[in-house]
Amino acid sequence: MISVDAHRETVTGLLGNAPVIRLPLASAAGLVLAEDVRAGVSLPPFDNSAMDGYAVRAEDIAEVPVTLPVAEDIPAGRVDSTKLEPGTAHRIMTGAPMPPGADAVVMVEHTDGGVTDVRILRTAVLGAHIRRRGEDVVEGTVALSAGTVLGPAQLGLAAAVGLAEVPVYRPLKVLVVSTGTELVDAPEPLRHGQIYESNSIMLASAIRALGCEAEVVRSVVDDVDEFRSVIEPRLAEVDLLVTSGGVSAGAYEVVKDALTGQGVEFRKVAMQPGGPQGCGRWNGVPVVTLPGNPVSVLVSFEAFLRPALLAAMGHAGVDRQKVRARLTESMTSPAGRRQFRRGFYTHSEGEVTGIVGPRGGPGSHLLASFTQANCLIVLPEDVDSAEQGDEVDVLLL
Ligand code: AMP
Ligand code: MG
Repeated sequence: MISVDAHRETVTGLLGNAPVIRLPLASAAGLVLAEDVRAGVSLPPFDNSAMDGYAVRAEDIAEVPVTLPVAEDIPAGRVDSTKLEPGTAHRIMTGAPMPPGADAVVMVEHTDGGVTDVRILRTAVLGAHIRRRGEDVVEGTVALSAGTVLGPAQLGLAAAVGLAEVPVYRPLKVLVVSTGTELVDAPEPLRHGQIYESNSIMLASAIRALGCEAEVVRSVVDDVDEFRSVIEPRLAEVDLLVTSGGVSAGAYEVVKDALTGQGVEFRKVAMQPGGPQGCGRWNGVPVVTLPGNPVSVLVSFEAFLRPALLAAMGHAGVDRQKVRARLTESMTSPAGRRQFRRGFYTHSEGEVTGIVGPRGGPGSHLLASFTQANCLIVLPEDVDSAEQGDEVDVLLL
């Protein structure tokens, strides 16, 4: 048996780094910036008004009330330059360029709102309500650094500094394949001995949630020739093949039988659930083979694929947040294996540690209880039982 950490490292190494491509901003949400990007313009690009009001010289309104002639009207978007003469005001809107000669803005609420003459009711300090050029970002400086995850604020800034495209790690294309002669796609009715196929939607949605692309081949029967002929031609289009089922110790283990000796190694990982695992390359394409039980599939995804895919896509933080929590009931764990149990974690205000209780038993077919879990409880290899009140590690999902 190999350790969870060793297998995770192998899978992460197998994937390496995704290629860098330039994508339009609209296609880059959630991806990671692969290079520093510099601002093509300063933000703001010019001194402008922070208020709807009147651009003035502060010294002209040192005594109020005072009435000034309105010499210009400057809406946002006016691109010619207007010069403010002493003793006059320009009506100005939020975001409009400050006229040279003006050194303050009086908000419209502090005036009578006049359009030919304006009566100003309050004084203003020098620089009042002026947003200065470069206050936010200076042209030519790094606006977003390599490694930044492009969320709404980051994409907004990229757009504001004039970028149409950004260099990002390309979303990996993953081919998800479920194996098993017993698998049926709804709404076809089940015959005795058949089950509905559920792993592919779990894996595909989990993979897509990381920003990767997933293609699915649902239900390849347990036949080595069939598996090879359906999957092998599709390898060229993808960065990774992920299979479920057909890797354990029985007969008719289609994935194991098809890929042994082809560059994929099958091993037992010291964990529960999810012991039987495999990885390697088939025709040069990375392959990760997961066991078939649905809970094993999701736990294996958490333990191996999620960190490996995130790392390949340039993310620095690939681990789930880990907290300590007190068990609400006792649990057992197989000696020598790391156990991942579905759990529910709560943390009440004022408490130092939260509490956690298992949801469902350890059985790897118990998918319904997974839907009620918000965490995985981790019992390490050297622990075979934990009592109520003991502190344990919890991975928040
Ligand atoms: P296997 O590893 O192929 O022996 O599968 C282990 C268990 O998981 C069996 O009970 C399978 O029926 C079940 N299983 C395998 N693949 C799927 C799938 N795609 N959807 C639902 N259950 C599956
Ligand atoms: Mg099977």
